[in-house]
Amino acid sequence: MSDINMETENTWCPGCGNFAIEAVTKKVIKKIGRNKTAITAGIGCHAKIIDYVNVNSFYGLHGRPVSLAVGIKLANPELSVLAFSGDGDSLNEGISHLIHAAKRNSDITVVIHQNRNFALTVKQFTASSPKGFVSNSSPEGNVEEPLNTLEVANSAGATFISRSFSGDIEHLQETMEKAVEHKGFSLIEVLQSCPAWYDTNSYYRENSYKMEKVPKNPDKKIREWNYDGEGKIPLGVFKKQEKPTYEEKMARKGKKVSVEEVLKSKI
Ligand code: SF4
Repeated sequence: MSDINMETENTWCPGCGNFAIEAVTKKVIKKIGRNKTAITAGIGCHAKIIDYVNVNSFYGLHGRPVSLAVGIKLANPELSVLAFSGDGDSLNEGISHLIHAAKRNSDITVVIHQNRNFALTVKQFTASSPKGFVSNSSPEGNVEEPLNTLEVANSAGATFISRSFSGDIEHLQETMEKAVEHKGFSLIEVLQSCPAWYDTNSYYRENSYKMEKVPKNPDKKIREWNYDGEGKIPLGVFKKQEKPTYEEKMARKGKKVSVEEVLKSKI
């Protein structure tokens, strides 16, 4: 592999927040080294990142980028592994994988492209769509409360939780670098506009602010924005904790078990 760019035609819509995520991802991977990095994606607009970034990658089933990343990291702990996922991919189809990876403290980085709708399938509501959201699966408006992504990760035990905005490339790069550097499970929620189905660019630009430091009370800070139009939106790192990683705990279990031993076992 000689270059991080692919020649594949980019089919994202003009103005989509995915472009910023792609650009920052390439910068971050260049710093780590392409041969030391692997990325995964699920299904959705976000997943096309696999077609545009020339690095070891795995295009998975819907909702499975996190479980794939956990497996890759366990097999080769030397790699930096990033799982790219959409809100529908990780908070609807794949929510159990997100929760368990956070609980295990698997040393991976999950990047959530938060556009708050199933965009590739032309606008259905997801778990994080706002109440009242009119879509092809909620023509009279979504009746459900939106799920707070960071609260889900926090309650599952994630050791690094952050949020950025695709309209602020510098902040996005800084936050993604911190997430990748963290030893343990790290999550970065990237608020992104979907100009085709849910154009939130001005709303995020006008209603977000950057936190100056990691808050003393992350639980409270995480709940400051309710995803439903109330409250200002904090950006930055909400939580950073040191704990043994899943890979370390698995390695400590001791001797390797051969396939023959597993087959002979009476479990
Ligand atoms: Fe981006 Fe939305 Fe277009 Fe998908 S449908 S490429 S998320 S603007």
